[in-house]
Amino acid sequence: MSTEAQGTESRPRDFIRNIVAEDLANNKHDGRLATRFPPEPNGYLHIGHAKSICLNFGVAEEQGGVCHLRFDDTNPVKEETEFIEAIKADLSWLGFDWGENEYYSSDYFEQLYQWAVQLIKAGKAYVEDLSGEEMRKLRGTLTEPGTNSPSRERSVEENLDLFERMRNGEFADGAKVLRAKIDMAAANMNLRDPAMYRILHAHHHRTGNDWCIYPMYDFAHGQSDSIERITHSICTLEFADHRPLYDWFIEQLGIFAPHQYEFARLNLGYTVMSKRKLQQLVAEQLVSGWDDPRMPTLVGMRRRGYPAQAIRTFCERIGVGKSDSWIDLSVLEECVRDELNETAPRAMCVVKPLKVVITDYPEDQQEMFDAPIHPQQPQMGRRQVPFSREIYIDRDDFMEDPPKKFFRLGPDREVRLRYGFVIKCNEIIRDDSGEVIELRCTHDPATAGGVAAEGRKVKGIIHWVCAKTAVPVEVRQYDRLFQVEQPGGKEGDYREDINADSLQVFTPCYAEAGLADAEPTVAYQFERLGYFCADSRDSKPGALVFNRTVTLRDSWAKAK
Ligand code: ATP
Ligand code: MG
Repeated sequence: MSTEAQGTESRPRDFIRNIVAEDLANNKHDGRLATRFPPEPNGYLHIGHAKSICLNFGVAEEQGGVCHLRFDDTNPVKEETEFIEAIKADLSWLGFDWGENEYYSSDYFEQLYQWAVQLIKAGKAYVEDLSGEEMRKLRGTLTEPGTNSPSRERSVEENLDLFERMRNGEFADGAKVLRAKIDMAAANMNLRDPAMYRILHAHHHRTGNDWCIYPMYDFAHGQSDSIERITHSICTLEFADHRPLYDWFIEQLGIFAPHQYEFARLNLGYTVMSKRKLQQLVAEQLVSGWDDPRMPTLVGMRRRGYPAQAIRTFCERIGVGKSDSWIDLSVLEECVRDELNETAPRAMCVVKPLKVVITDYPEDQQEMFDAPIHPQQPQMGRRQVPFSREIYIDRDDFMEDPPKKFFRLGPDREVRLRYGFVIKCNEIIRDDSGEVIELRCTHDPATAGGVAAEGRKVKGIIHWVCAKTAVPVEVRQYDRLFQVEQPGGKEGDYREDINADSLQVFTPCYAEAGLADAEPTVAYQFERLGYFCADSRDSKPGALVFNRTVTLRDSWAKAK
């Protein structure tokens, strides 16, 4: 994380923000700032994209520039409208606004075609009819130069004619490509006469069947930036080797030259982020969908209850640098906790219920205890917690033969019910197999509402719910989707590292009555347990489902 060169804002400046600030100070591009976020609409956005989004939109926002949303839809076979809508929804959820600036690379197809013709006329591009395999053979290696293809010597007229016929659909897929005529001996392999256009008789989600030739990403990307007059074209490090090629096209065409800057992509521990892998997890039903709460997608995190602000804070905390590194998943989880600790309403829920009968409390009586919605945020108001003769406590809060330091319930021991009475366990009821199924307790009326009665020393406080009014819920507890930090390692199959215990379902659990109308994706703190939210897909009135958003503490660190 770069914290040198503090900006005037509270945010630490990174090398990109420094460059932008300096360019603006020098009135480069007449003081104009335009960035863009260019997703390929072939999948849902993930937390890695969020890093790029926060950087591109963030810089523009801070410096009074604009950030374009550009769908890089040059590849007709993989793109779907579903993804475009999802990407827009995710961006809005994160809190960014592209306004009028929504663009599609496919809108530039005609212009790109004209530019290809311009390069052919200038003797800078030629039609190749060698197969992909043959081209690879002539390409050379990192240590040996490539060899010129015979097609390189075609006349401009012949190239123009062939390229037009490619457009007109006279040739089959893969029969020909248009190549840039640069240098087959270039040290940078990307400059060894790279392909500019390929033939693909495929339907495109926006241009329909208008085209059967499509520009390669490398021929479309830089020029799209140029058309939109992007001043700072920010991308991840793996494109650094492509920059000379983008610059070459721009220079040959004599058009506006955006400058590309590369930053380190986000790698997050215990997570995979390649869209191919995410797609595979979905297709092979290893998760329930793109929005499975264990997925690193923004839809998954939203469904899990991560607040958008936590993701923005995370992107700020990890900073923007130039060397690839892995970020521990606990950093993201800590951002979620920090945010929810401040904002999440409190409630009680018993995940592993054990019935407790308060034998000295009248059968038909019920009372309300007054409790804060959030102990540190009085402005959030109060809630009423019902109490009656039968309650549930968590099984883990009772031990038959407790050690001295167990400050919860045991035979003849006392414990304080959160916001309620001090109770004492007098009797244990078992089923035929000997399992404890119920406790019989008495209460001390002088301790109502958590008021400490004179001289009492009851250390433990446990959560509980009133059996009469509690709502039954299903609780889904998630753990990391993978059991190793770098799934698949360098060469292995990441799927073999899936954590088989990443989802645990508990039912029935009992939640405080007020949770019956919990809004999906809005997290509550279930006292002593963690943060939980109603599931946006599966939770229904009468059949509530809660997802665990995150634990109260980093239990994984302890377990290791
Ligand atoms: P794939 O996983 O198929 O390689 P991609 O993640 O590169 O795809 P794009 O839709 O091309 O997907 O990405 C859009 C933008 O998001 C690009 O500018 C890319 O640099 C950025 N981006 C993608 N992944 C990350 C990441 N892990 N960290 C930071 N930025 C990322
Ligand atoms: Mg990509």
